[in-house]
Amino acid sequence: MTDNDKPRPSNFIRHIIAEDLRQNKNNGRVHTRFPPEPNGYLHVGHAKSICLNFGIAAEFNGKCNLRFDDTNPEKESLEYIEAIMADVRWLGFDWEDRLYYASDYFERLYEYAEILIRDGKAYVDDLSADQMREYRGTLTEPGRESPYRNRTVEENLDLFRRMRAGEFGDGARVLRARIDMTSPNINMRDPVIYRIKRAHHHRTGDRWCIYPMYDYTHCISDALESITHSICTLEFEDHRPLYDWCLDQLPVPCHPQQIEFARLNLNYTITSKRKLNELVTEGHVSGWDDPRLPTITGMRRRGYTPAAIRDFCERIGVTKNDTVIDMSVLENCVREDLDRNCKRIMAVLRPLRVVISNYPDGQIEQLDAPYHPNRPELGSRPVPFGKVIYIERDDFMADPPKKFFRLAPGREVRLRYAYFIRCDEVIKDNATGEVIELRCTYDPATKGGNAPDGRKVKGTLHWVAADHALTAEVRLYDRLFSVPDPGREADWRSTLNRNSVEVIKSARLEPGLASALPEERFQFERLGYFCVDRRDAALNHPVFNRTVTLKDSWVKESQGG
Ligand code: ATP
Ligand code: MG
Repeated sequence: MTDNDKPRPSNFIRHIIAEDLRQNKNNGRVHTRFPPEPNGYLHVGHAKSICLNFGIAAEFNGKCNLRFDDTNPEKESLEYIEAIMADVRWLGFDWEDRLYYASDYFERLYEYAEILIRDGKAYVDDLSADQMREYRGTLTEPGRESPYRNRTVEENLDLFRRMRAGEFGDGARVLRARIDMTSPNINMRDPVIYRIKRAHHHRTGDRWCIYPMYDYTHCISDALESITHSICTLEFEDHRPLYDWCLDQLPVPCHPQQIEFARLNLNYTITSKRKLNELVTEGHVSGWDDPRLPTITGMRRRGYTPAAIRDFCERIGVTKNDTVIDMSVLENCVREDLDRNCKRIMAVLRPLRVVISNYPDGQIEQLDAPYHPNRPELGSRPVPFGKVIYIERDDFMADPPKKFFRLAPGREVRLRYAYFIRCDEVIKDNATGEVIELRCTYDPATKGGNAPDGRKVKGTLHWVAADHALTAEVRLYDRLFSVPDPGREADWRSTLNRNSVEVIKSARLEPGLASALPEERFQFERLGYFCVDRRDAALNHPVFNRTVTLKDSWVKESQGG
């Protein structure tokens, strides 16, 4: 079943759009946009916005633009632009020929600002930033009008043109909308719409020394692109009157409707671009694509699939109230997708050597092992079996408690796809007492996993033939933070989980994995889902990332299990 065949839970945005279509608003057009600022990499919260904007467009036969909101040149860069485009594509969405930049509208934004000035709806203010803050008032007190508020149109036009021409220093003057200093909504108290800033812009170079502010730019960009529904997060709800005010004053082609929804918050992680940036630049993680980060590129490197992320965004729904989603919801979406679609193979992370005493020296058998129990169409592969194998250290106990059903002295278990073996002897390191090898015997009659005499074993172990094993580095990831809401702590760095990654240098894998491709995903039987690291894996140095465990072990822990 593809995403499009799945029944979609409805939400209030779909209702609004369906109703608009019923009334033939916008002549039946639906046109949305995803408007990232290229000042960082996209994260799982952006994935929600991407799925929503592109998803709604697809569902209603509309279009969705990708638009970079690039009005803040100091923090923006080409690296981010390219990463954002790659991430949106990887998630499975296509803006076709509709790639836009707010900076492409700088000239028109400037012309619109002159119109506001001519209409007495904008003025150049000389107050300093501190003074402006003082004049702005508070939530309980109205603001006061700037002494420069009543400049003539001619004076304002002259000053604004000279701002553009570079006659004044950075921050010396601003252009403000002339709205209402007593408005209960602080956003309407004559907001700044242009500032002077000598900063090199990644697209417009040094052509401009004045830059339009976000609120002013965003609504006009939407209108110039004939957006019908401008979907954004709740923090912009109080900005909506300004969005509408700007468009009402100007001869723009249309007036899009702004609709706000609650942003995605996930526990045990952070989705603030600023903090993500700090994690990367301070070296707490290995880069923007560190598999522990909730960035799209990090999730990709970890092995999450686009389908799982889209499924997650669909399941969490779209609402007007802020909630925190449990990380396990995302992980379960990943598990479900990988469970259905991954080949299953055997790998031993912490090898314990097992010698099968009665197995002929030098003999190798190729056992046929299907890739998926429920999907025969995925085929099977030969797995070599020999006299010396590795099993997982955890699968043996010298002195097992009652409920331990795996290997122990005198105990018989099944080797997956192979034979029953019985543990006869335990070899320990003389100095440390550590178990270093087991001597076992196998029952040739149990080939394939069943005993003709009907005797049963309780445990089935995965294993890898020692002489044929592929040695690989395997990275086990855990949550990056050790508290549910790290963003809330003032000292959020101190809540980093010190054990969020464990590197196993020489895991032993089935030899067939030597030909695994970058990003290829597998279930390592009994261990979890793993994928080939797209950055560090090399031909003679395989590296696998654990994407997610087979089961949600956090549920147990948090319930004290
Ligand atoms: P900042 O962290 O600096 O506030 P931002 O996360 O809002 O930035 P933008 O690049 O402006 O980053 O975001 C692009 C779009 O993604 C916006 O429409 C924004 O509303 C949406 N978005 C950002 N974070 C989330 C989130 N956590 N959940 C849902 N949508 C989000
Ligand atoms: Mg933003």
